[in-house]
Amino acid sequence: MEAKIGLIYGDGIGPEIVREGKKILSRVGAVYSHEFQYTEILMGGCSIDACGEPLTKEAVESAKAQDAVLMGSIGGDAAVSPWYKLPPEKRPEVGLLGIRKALNLFANLRPASLYPELKGACPLRADIADKGFDLLIMRELTGGLYFGERKTEERDGLIVATDTLVYNEEEIQRIAIRAFDVAMKRRKKVTSVDKANVLDSSRLWRKVVEEVAKDYPEVTLSHMLVDNCAMQLVKGPAQFDVVLTENMFGDILSDEASQITGSIGMLPSASLNDTKFGLYEPSGGSAPDIAGKGIANPIATILSAAMLLRYSLDLNQEADAVEEAVKKVLAEGYRTVDIAAFKEGVETKQVSTEEMGDCIAERIG
Ligand code: NAD
Repeated sequence: MEAKIGLIYGDGIGPEIVREGKKILSRVGAVYSHEFQYTEILMGGCSIDACGEPLTKEAVESAKAQDAVLMGSIGGDAAVSPWYKLPPEKRPEVGLLGIRKALNLFANLRPASLYPELKGACPLRADIADKGFDLLIMRELTGGLYFGERKTEERDGLIVATDTLVYNEEEIQRIAIRAFDVAMKRRKKVTSVDKANVLDSSRLWRKVVEEVAKDYPEVTLSHMLVDNCAMQLVKGPAQFDVVLTENMFGDILSDEASQITGSIGMLPSASLNDTKFGLYEPSGGSAPDIAGKGIANPIATILSAAMLLRYSLDLNQEADAVEEAVKKVLAEGYRTVDIAAFKEGVETKQVSTEEMGDCIAERIG
């Protein structure tokens, strides 16, 4: 197939890790006879330096013209970077919010899985970590409490602050469809998380999710209250496949899920809209403390590239091949410095960002 792929190198370790992501996509292209055409898109601090703003109209138009975009991360060290002396609306992170809005990216996918070789990084009890886990949080990204009306006012001499949590049935339906579609590509299980014992928005959420489920007879649906889900994630994460939830619950649960893997450099993510388009990026930031040293872990970006193949290009076999290659290099003992302490009985070899990319590329095809 032919596909247009945008590359946002970004700031800090961004360029180092996106180079490895591109290397993997190019290897997949060569092995499976696909033609990927790459376009570089500026965003974040590097766009401020080059164009005076974190995200230009041209950059948005360029992103819209792609089938998918692979992104590094943006931003710098706020204590020393001149970008953070600019007014808040001109800072690097505004680019990220701007592109999500411009592309209507309402579905945020955050997988969290524990590789047996990195079990030692998991902060959970050994008997729980031994079971492993492979789950994906599907978070609604453009509605709910973070986007509802808010105000602070004085009433009878008291300051009162109000936030509103609003969802309409269409917003719930489209994210639920995304969750069931993704479950069909995984273990066919959706846990919908809400607070239906208290919130009207959650009761509507549950009703709409149940309607959508009727179109996916192969997928098992269950409901869980958010407080219970927060507990179950640390008590028995192996029970989850796709966790579908609204914006604020997803914000909190996805960070909890990432922490139980214990390794930020390993976690990919995707943000999708209602077309096949997606923006794919590592869950971590631009890591200014290690930028330019050639030691960043590129695996989160490489796994984000695998998600791009799976969800935007429907290349499941190719995505599987990338994920298998990552598992192989870990089992063979290759480690970047951030995961070097986790050995699990294998002899480990410490490698650079570039060497890790090479090792994974060599094991594809
Ligand atoms: P961070 O994720 O960049 O770094 C936290 C720690 O994790 C650091 O010690 C870093 O070295 C390490 N780390 C992160 N990714 C790594 C990798 N791939 N390999 C090895 N180690 C890795 O978080 P922070 O320091 O809070 O933020 C730094 C900058 O990143 C800030 O400007 C922040 O706004 C930005 N940020 C951007 C995004 C994004 O682009 N989506 C997300 C989060 C933070």
